[in-house]
Amino acid sequence: LRVTFTPIHRRDKGTTGTIAVLQDVTEQEKLEQSRREFVANVSHELRTPLTTIKSYAEALNDGALEERELSERFVGVIRNETERMIRLVTDLLHLSRLDSNQAPLRRRQTNVHEMLDEVADRFSFQLRQKSIKAAVRVDRGLKAAWLDRDQIDQVLDNLFSNAIKYTLDGGTIELTAKKPADSDMLAISVKDTGIGIPKKDLIRIFDRFYRVDKARSRNMGGTGLGLSIAREIVKAHGGTISLHSELNEGTTVTFTLPLLREGGEPA
Ligand code: ADP
Repeated sequence: LRVTFTPIHRRDKGTTGTIAVLQDVTEQEKLEQSRREFVANVSHELRTPLTTIKSYAEALNDGALEERELSERFVGVIRNETERMIRLVTDLLHLSRLDSNQAPLRRRQTNVHEMLDEVADRFSFQLRQKSIKAAVRVDRGLKAAWLDRDQIDQVLDNLFSNAIKYTLDGGTIELTAKKPADSDMLAISVKDTGIGIPKKDLIRIFDRFYRVDKARSRNMGGTGLGLSIAREIVKAHGGTISLHSELNEGTTVTFTLPLLREGGEPA
């Protein structure tokens, strides 16, 4: 609570009173604090790859260029770091568009089964590489939903790529779509048999840049923004997203979307 006192002056009578203003600044301060943290995080996330790029470029300059094998390796590192920075900046731009509502939803009637099958297809190479089995299950009666396909594809890709990243070889991933009874919402889940998330981290897991293991996430090419982007997109659709996880057993992320068009017509 911020209290400010302003004396009331009257030219003829001097000070005749005081105005006290009580202002609840906790919300405002929290916002300010999280903005400061965000800027610090962005700077740090950009600085890390830039420092790496600089030192590898210097090493090339200082003679590594003469050795073919070494220079190829160094150029590889520089390319990887550059790609990660591009991913990071792309994610940041996407978040900022979502924050300022500059990404109007283009909802269409969408076949849910087809959409989920295509997610698994997009990742078939990575699935094979890690011998991970993927299964898609869609409730019988469930046909179409009213959603922005590009945006929901982004949500599904973020969740599915996490499931692959954080699941050991030989695991399984299930993609399911259900219509819970007495609800006009569609519930989509991505369930893995992966490493899971410790209880103490669950509360911050949707925060921007929050990762259980920074080094691991970076090594996997993660930006720490995937879940926050997913949450913003789901929110824009009028749905909710939640995550359940057991350490060393697996993680399930579930999000809901309205099945009906605005106005209540079936999609
Ligand atoms: P990242 O780019 O690091 O994957 P995300 O925002 O997508 O960023 O996820 C944040 C963090 O949540 C990850 O760094 C990881 O620690 C944890 N996480 C997300 N999905 C899973 C999952 N399926 N299994 C285990 N941990 C996960």
